[in-house]
Amino acid sequence: MLTLKNYISGNFLEPQNNEYLDSYNPSDGSILYKLPQSNKKDVDDAVTAAKVSFLDWSKLPGIDRAQFLYLISDKIQENFSEFAEAESMDQGKPLWLTKKVDIPRAIKNFRFFAEQLSGQSTESFNDEPGFVNIVKRDPVGVCALITPWNLPLYLLTWKIAPALSLGNTVVCKTSEITSLTAYKLSEIMNKIKLPNGVCNFVYGSGDRSGSYLTEHSDVAAISFTGGTKTGEKIYTSATKGFKKVGLELGGKNSNIVFSSCDLEKTVKTSIHAAFINQGEVCLSGSKILVEESIYSLFVEKFIEKAKSLKVGNPSDKDTFIGAIASIGHLNKILSYIEIAKEEKATILLGGNRTSIPGYEEGYYILPTVITDLKPDSRILTEEIFGPVVSISPVKSEEEAIEIANNTPYGLSATVFSSNVNQIHRVTSKLEVGQIWVNCWLQRDLRTPFGGKKSSGIGREGGVYSRELFTELKNICIHYS
Ligand code: NDP
Repeated sequence: MLTLKNYISGNFLEPQNNEYLDSYNPSDGSILYKLPQSNKKDVDDAVTAAKVSFLDWSKLPGIDRAQFLYLISDKIQENFSEFAEAESMDQGKPLWLTKKVDIPRAIKNFRFFAEQLSGQSTESFNDEPGFVNIVKRDPVGVCALITPWNLPLYLLTWKIAPALSLGNTVVCKTSEITSLTAYKLSEIMNKIKLPNGVCNFVYGSGDRSGSYLTEHSDVAAISFTGGTKTGEKIYTSATKGFKKVGLELGGKNSNIVFSSCDLEKTVKTSIHAAFINQGEVCLSGSKILVEESIYSLFVEKFIEKAKSLKVGNPSDKDTFIGAIASIGHLNKILSYIEIAKEEKATILLGGNRTSIPGYEEGYYILPTVITDLKPDSRILTEEIFGPVVSISPVKSEEEAIEIANNTPYGLSATVFSSNVNQIHRVTSKLEVGQIWVNCWLQRDLRTPFGGKKSSGIGREGGVYSRELFTELKNICIHYS
């Protein structure tokens, strides 16, 4: 049985209290590995290591820091299959998906931020003769990076790469549910001889290692991706030390379908937006709103396609929906289906846990489609984060916008329409951080990513990542 170790100041270390947690393989319910349940002292050592290494790392020329990021990226590429298999086994998502999306994106994150952020451009202002103001960006110091279990390596590298590129040092805390690829990443950092203490990993549960880390007085910035309730706790504790915070939180994203859309393409994209990664995507289009005139036809075509999606073992080539990441999360999804029943909704498809022959203890659930929901129902306003989608008819643009905005969340939305005026009208009224029109999750890494309302604070991506990972300093010089 594999036992993970913390990675602190270039050393693989056992947790000081010798406590471990079990991490499960969602495809069959077996224990996959053990991970440290780190205590305060482990976290303290990791933060101290990061603080010490900051002195040298922050002074390296950006181009030298970038070279390390390229090396890390190349090493993940060299070990591509090992990473892809580990991610699929640990998270439950199909292996073809980790090969197509998760691991290529982790590789790209390092290359992208090495190129995008390794150099500095500075602004200057000169109003009165004899004075010039130079605006510099300094790294903030030690950053705590906390990530969820749905896109483990993809989201972790999305934080590590910009933070290191800009001269910060980091302590990473991944979800106890999925820490395997982070561990493999720490092995790579050790192999390429990334200076000790620049990137540290402490494992354990959120309420213990996670909160010790975010509360640590030497942490200058926190980049957190996860649930809104956890985000709230972190935000509150961060105010005590006036830490910088970036919060990428939950979402309840509308997928709005107008009658002028290309129906075949819209159904195909909507299926993808609802069910890819078992619906465990913060941007998933889980709330489909369809203009009344095409509602019945849309539902018919959507159900036909959803029925054809194979739920199966993540390593099978034709599996579209793999296993749910944990038993706790599976039960949460099933409890929402019960809520739908209590709300007198109609379960048009799925609605149950399912068993895969040979993997009876695995955490599988059928793609589920719910209709006949009231606008204020919990299914239409709360995040479920599973392969569960609702479809509701809307009479007008106004009604679509009202239902779409009727949620505490404001992460993303998708609009399907071929009417340019309608596209502009609708997108301008949606209270979200990003909108896709006639496509979904098309990402250009230079664009700002983040949410409004309860979906978070701040933006990550491209040069926007500098807002969290650097501090502006103005230097006014009087010359003669
Ligand atoms: P959680 O908020 O439960 O956990 C996220 C991370 O925070 C985990 O590493 C967790 O550790 C840790 N954590 C938990 N409690 C604390 C605490 N008190 N202090 C510090 N760290 C803590 O979210 P999930 O892992 O369940 O992820 C799903 C959520 O993430 C969904 O709401 C989803 O929408 C959101 N998400 C948002 C994205 C975005 O970009 N906006 C992208 C992806 C997901 P542990 O798991 O070990 O307890």
